[in-house]
Amino acid sequence: MSRKIKIATTSLAGCFGCHMSFLDIDEHIMELADIVEFTRSPLTDIAECRNNDIGLIEGGVCNSENVHMLQEFRDNCKTLVAVGACAINGGLPALRNTIDVKQCLQESYVTGMGIENPQIPDDPELPLLLDKVYPIHEVVKVDHFLPGCPPSPEAFLTFIGALIAGRKPDLPYELLHYD
Ligand code: SF4
Repeated sequence: MSRKIKIATTSLAGCFGCHMSFLDIDEHIMELADIVEFTRSPLTDIAECRNNDIGLIEGGVCNSENVHMLQEFRDNCKTLVAVGACAINGGLPALRNTIDVKQCLQESYVTGMGIENPQIPDDPELPLLLDKVYPIHEVVKVDHFLPGCPPSPEAFLTFIGALIAGRKPDLPYELLHYD
């Protein structure tokens, strides 16, 4: 029996909506389970990220921890996929890109409406915010892009099915969405 394809997934600055859409493939997840092993992923809670065939990245890059995670995935996944609008172009989190980081933090934690005990969090364990939210291909090399917010379950199935079969994913027009 040939070995299973190892897939790792993560969410950077994302909302987990892409992960939820992937899970919406319903019973097809059982078919995938016969040929795929999910390794590091919120779906498995496995933390180690080593020797994966495919890495699926949801979300843009907004802080130092995201950069570290993304580089770890690039180093440990033969094929890296930007999944969803946030990974591809920054998406909703990138709406902050027109505002200075200091101003963002000031309004979020000090001057915004309904704030009690105003204070910008400064625990040294908190990852540092980047100056803006970056699409992942501006930080590491990305092999494929799966658009949508989120991509539909059918798009996930078709796209990942092609990758598993060793083909270049080529989604039909009706599965291509950018919203
Ligand atoms: Fe959420 Fe849409 Fe971003 Fe996916 S692309 S993480 S569904 S906001």
